[in-house]
Order: sequence, then structure tokens, then C-alpha cells
Amino acid sequence: MQLIDCPWCGPREENEFGYGGEAHIAYPENPAELDDTEWAHYVFFRDNPQGAFAERWVHTVGCRRWFNAVRDTVTYRFLAVYPIGAPRPDVPVLAPRASAPAAASPDHDAHAVAALEPTDAR
Ligand SMILES: [Zn+2]
Repeated sequence: MQLIDCPWCGPREENEFGYGGEAHIAYPENPAELDDTEWAHYVFFRDNPQGAFAERWVHTVGCRRWFNAVRDTVTYRFLAVYPIGAPRPDVPVLAPRASAPAAASPDHDAHAVAALEPTDAR
């Protein structure tokens, strides 16, 4: 189990946190003016990169405060944490790309393995 560095509490075990989806999704200025397709894109469509990804997290069992994090979706490692409203920090992507996904990180956990399972035929 890895530690996540809560901006207010410090390092805590990852099972104290909850995932809140992609960060930096702006609420539409005039939601009533969106058609169904635009609304569906706002509500449901999210990026799904392989590598660094900005996400919202909440320290559910601790301070219960939300924050943003950049997490590598290949290794599951947190690369940076920062307050809501702050710009995404520019962090280097340390993860190896598509080659040897599960074997690339010897200390990976079940979440990382599950995230690497292919869900479609590529
Ligand atoms: Zn906290």
C-alpha cells in the first residue's frame, strides 16, 4: 500500500482516500444552453491517458478535504498533490510506456494491475 501526501494532514495510507474523477473540469457557464450532446460530453466524457493524469481526491477518513493530484496511471504512483484551484504542476512522466506494463513496476499493487488489464481489442 502506498502513502498519499494529503496537503493538510501529510502522508497517509491510500485506503483513507476516495477518488473523485478528472480534475480541472469546468462547470459550463450557461448549462441551460447546452444541447444533449454537449451536456453528455461535460458529464460523461473524460480523458483516459496512459501516464500522468490530473485527478480529484478526497481524504475521506482524515480531514475530509478535497485536493488535486497528478497520478501516473501506469504505475499508480502519485507524482504531485496540490490544492483545488491551483494550476496543475508540471511533473515529469516517470512511467515506462506500453512495453512490459505489469513487470515494469515490481512493487505494483492490485489496483495497478487491474488498471492495466486491456478492456478492448487493440
Ligand atoms: Zn487530510
